[in-house]
Amino acid sequence: MVQFSYCMPSRIVLGKGSTADIGKYAVGKNVLIICDPFLYQCGVAEKIGGHLTGCQVAYFHDIAPNPSCESVDAATAMARAMGAETVVGIGGGSSMDVSKIVSCLTREEGSIYDYYSGGTRKLSKRTTRLICIPTTAGTGSEVTNVGVFTNQKTHIKLPFVSDEFWPDVALLDPELTYTLPPAVTASTGMDAFCHAIEAYWNKESQPICDAIAVEAMKLILANVKAAYDDGKNETSRENMQLASLMAGVAFSQTRTTGIHALSFPLTAEFGASHGTACSISLPAFIRLVGESAGEKMERLCRALGYDSTSVLADAVEALMVSMEMPTRLSQIGVKESDLDHITEVGLSAAIIQLTPAVMNRETVRALLASYL
Ligand code: NAD
Repeated sequence: MVQFSYCMPSRIVLGKGSTADIGKYAVGKNVLIICDPFLYQCGVAEKIGGHLTGCQVAYFHDIAPNPSCESVDAATAMARAMGAETVVGIGGGSSMDVSKIVSCLTREEGSIYDYYSGGTRKLSKRTTRLICIPTTAGTGSEVTNVGVFTNQKTHIKLPFVSDEFWPDVALLDPELTYTLPPAVTASTGMDAFCHAIEAYWNKESQPICDAIAVEAMKLILANVKAAYDDGKNETSRENMQLASLMAGVAFSQTRTTGIHALSFPLTAEFGASHGTACSISLPAFIRLVGESAGEKMERLCRALGYDSTSVLADAVEALMVSMEMPTRLSQIGVKESDLDHITEVGLSAAIIQLTPAVMNRETVRALLASYL
């Protein structure tokens, strides 16, 4: 018997120029916009802030990729000092994730470390409005209850899951993604593919998310290379943003699996971007899961137009190579002697056990060795 629960409390608004309507969704007079240095310097954040007529808008524009708990605390201090009533995250997953926790901590005391990574305090109900505006087509963070932060003391990067993190509004405008450089288009686009396929094969998968995930995968396979080749190709940019959103909706219900679990040490310790750290494992995981999740993976292959999981894995790998993405761990500086450690850190992330294959020291190390 099919049994599942599906919850999507975020309002989703997608369309060209949709950010001009941000004023409809913000509350109060004091708005904090959180973004990275690029989105501030190129004027995107201020342009969106300019639509908040009658509001006092402040900008925290210091977010680095794989954001640290320290940057969360710095942005929180700003939100508290100005009495932010709405927090807006504009950017890739890094800025959106920080906006989620900052909107929760605005009316709490203490540091993110008190609530996460060994902290014992619990977030209370969020009363600050949260709006997320993605500028990459990859993480789907605008529609998830997850934030991923790096503990700078331990260099450990781990997801923080809280129902207080669902944004009130996900505001998507594909035009914001036109400036993404080819390498970021490729890595974030393949991150979205990982979300979709990990939702689909997940032990917690469910029919609504399966359907959404398959459509997301079709859109990515048909559009990511075109967006990589020509960033101004409007159709491919629109389709990639839609695919990333759909993949986000799918994995928001199921969580991710081994691909994401193994990505955490690769970003925190080897400096790979999040999308690269995930997709580098994608072909190997498709081959592995193809063996254990037989019939369901066969249905996926038929839906995507491939004869078998090994053909799908080869096609995904060729697509990555065509976008100059690494497909071997050695290409991002991993050595044979690092595999035991990566295995240990990967196994410490609970999501690894949502993979429909045996995930233990031996199997994970053998998998990593297969694409060293
Ligand atoms: P990012 O936010 O780290 O940004 C990567 C780079 O892209 C930055 O240099 C940024 O300036 C640049 N950039 C962003 N938008 C741009 C644009 N429109 N034009 C030009 N440059 C632009 O990248 P990301 O991959 O979107 O986010 C990765 C983070 O999200 C990681 O920390 C990851 O763990 C997290 N994540 C979160 C979730 C979630 O559900 N919360 C899901 C997946 C990943």
